[in-house]
Amino acid sequence: MNVLVINAGSSSLKYQLYDMTNETVLAKGRVERIGMESSILTHEVEGEPDVREVSEILEHTAAVRKVLDMLTHPKFGVLRAIGDIQAVGHRVVHGGESFHESVLIDADVKAEIRRLFDLAPLHNPAHMMGILAVEANLPDVPQAVVFDTAFHQTMPPASYLYAIPTVLYRKHKIRRYGFHGTSHDYVSKQAAAFLGKAPEALKIVSCHIGNGASCAAILHGKSYDTSMGMTPLEGLMMGTRSGDLDPAIVPFAMNKEELTLSEVNSMLNKHSGLLAISGLSSDMREVVQAMEEGSEPAKLAFEMYAYRIRKYIGAYAAAMNGIDVLLFTAGVGENSVPLRKRVCEGLTFLGLELDDARNEVRSGETRRVSADGSQVDVLVVPTNEELLIARDTYRLAIGPKGKR
Ligand code: ADP
Repeated sequence: MNVLVINAGSSSLKYQLYDMTNETVLAKGRVERIGMESSILTHEVEGEPDVREVSEILEHTAAVRKVLDMLTHPKFGVLRAIGDIQAVGHRVVHGGESFHESVLIDADVKAEIRRLFDLAPLHNPAHMMGILAVEANLPDVPQAVVFDTAFHQTMPPASYLYAIPTVLYRKHKIRRYGFHGTSHDYVSKQAAAFLGKAPEALKIVSCHIGNGASCAAILHGKSYDTSMGMTPLEGLMMGTRSGDLDPAIVPFAMNKEELTLSEVNSMLNKHSGLLAISGLSSDMREVVQAMEEGSEPAKLAFEMYAYRIRKYIGAYAAAMNGIDVLLFTAGVGENSVPLRKRVCEGLTFLGLELDDARNEVRSGETRRVSADGSQVDVLVVPTNEELLIARDTYRLAIGPKGKR
């Protein structure tokens, strides 16, 4: 039983093929520079050298065709025939208020994703191209969509509404949606399983710290609040995104610097965060290295980044009237020893105590990094959004609720 997971961007398409009988990845890869002259397909199979193919791939249907050719390639492939793919799951960033969970794709679902283009103009149209491209290549294979926002649909209005005229919510659906939901859902359940407890018994603050970063307050297994908002710009300081700022800065800076709307958007999304403050890089590894070599701007960037995470953890502990588990995940959260240490140093008032030796251990497994006597369990939990997409797709397409 094989499930193909697709994450389609405007000029890229990532894929992972799962054998769901044992949840193993048979192959994964990506097509980059779709629509350009020299598109690149990179294909990886565990234990084999990576395959890299440069060709002209003008649109997503051709990209999916290439991926299917590679998966069934006599030398590099892992499948005998295309018919060995039983279902396809897509990552979709924005499900608005319409989608509280993953769903099988039909005409209504596609129409609703189109209606949501407005809320995620950079992402949802690209996902739709991916869906149509799979449909064109595999017309009889069931497809499912898994939304980044769905997990956060349990937030109460006090968490998701902005204190602005309600007409903006009623007319334009301006509200907090939150993102990284697939990851927060997956890692919070992994954390509960690791601790041998039910998610319903726990108050968890989940910190997904990658290029994009968000915290979520997960109360008794459900998202109660999260730091990203209507778009993934709000909340924590990120690699290139500003995170929270006084909204009055936007018209003020536009006026002073004579910026257009698109310039200010680009400034806040692409030229802010770690990159702007360090003046060096959006990559935490490079910032930490520069800091260790004595760079003051890098030190400031690191301090601001850690400080904001700590503030959100404190806020969410207050929001839930307690915290049992603090977890770190994604590129920075899973790998940056100094970042976890700096964040936790200011949280001793919660009875939270990090164990430095455990924090230094590098592993791809879920692990405890808090001291034995700590009142809060601090965990590092590797995220795996693709696996969750594959599981939901499998359940919907083939499982007891599925069509066949
Ligand atoms: P994305 O949001 O693109 O999915 P990831 O979760 O893959 O991001 O995180 C990517 C980020 O993880 C990189 O920008 C890098 O800063 C950070 N990262 C990866 N490895 C390390 C490491 N060993 N130490 C610190 N940061 C790391």
